[in-house]
Amino acid sequence: MSERVAIVTGGASGIGKAVAEALAGGGDKVVIADLNEADGKEFADTIRGHFVKVDLSRRANCKQLVDEALTHYGEVHILINNAGFQHIDPIEVFPEDTWDKMLAVMLTAPFLLTKYVWGAMKAHGWGRIVNVSSIHGRVASPFKSAYITAKHGLIGLTRTAALEGGENGITVNAICPAYVRTPLVESQIADQARTRGISTEEVVEKVMLEPAAVKRLITPEEVASLIVYLCSDAAGAITGADWAIDLGWTAR
Ligand code: NAD
Repeated sequence: MSERVAIVTGGASGIGKAVAEALAGGGDKVVIADLNEADGKEFADTIRGHFVKVDLSRRANCKQLVDEALTHYGEVHILINNAGFQHIDPIEVFPEDTWDKMLAVMLTAPFLLTKYVWGAMKAHGWGRIVNVSSIHGRVASPFKSAYITAKHGLIGLTRTAALEGGENGITVNAICPAYVRTPLVESQIADQARTRGISTEEVVEKVMLEPAAVKRLITPEEVASLIVYLCSDAAGAITGADWAIDLGWTAR
């Protein structure tokens, strides 16, 4: 497939930005969809992409995103469901509105975007959807109930969509990273250092990487490479899978 058009949600920062850069570097036309207009627009200009401001917790914004991608580029071949955020609290006090928002952004929006791009991908007989789940789509940790529920659910969506997409050349996969050095994780490191009264280096070494075999944070570029591969023609036989990129964490 040449002249591909890709939508990357959460493309203004971290993993999404690295994926968008890698896809654009390979010649794809990239639609960056993000809440963060200032960073998203500036970045989209640097990769000659197209920026769409969206709040993915709103159903209408999900529809507008796909409509705008189709209006601007005429087609959509690739969807990277990546936007997300974290909130840490025990279930007993977990804010209910935050629960709703996290499920809306990290589970309902990927479903809606999949639904809305499906017709265009089916018409081409080719499509690639990569859902950015997490190691927390495979295993749980305390105090991250909404995040873990959304990321586990995203793997269920991935498997179902893979079964429905097979005969139309649409593959759907999830990727499950452990800690990647992005703004989302940098703020968790700082929070944990404050709460535990230890240094940021100790948080990374003793808390975050304790169960890992490879003792370093993952780079956004490493995650982007895996996603780019899953979007290639060479990966056409891979679908419905949840790919760990987790420093050996879940090997235990
Ligand atoms: P990040 O904070 O650097 O980027 C997330 C982006 O999503 C931001 O640009 C943000 O503006 C956007 N976003 C958030 N809510 C949105 C909304 N309602 N509508 C539109 N855009 C919205 O985070 P990141 O670390 O790059 O995370 C990207 C994805 O990777 C997330 O789904 C996250 O759960 C997942 N992930 C991250 C890690 C990690 O260690 N960083 C590990 C596993 C999975």
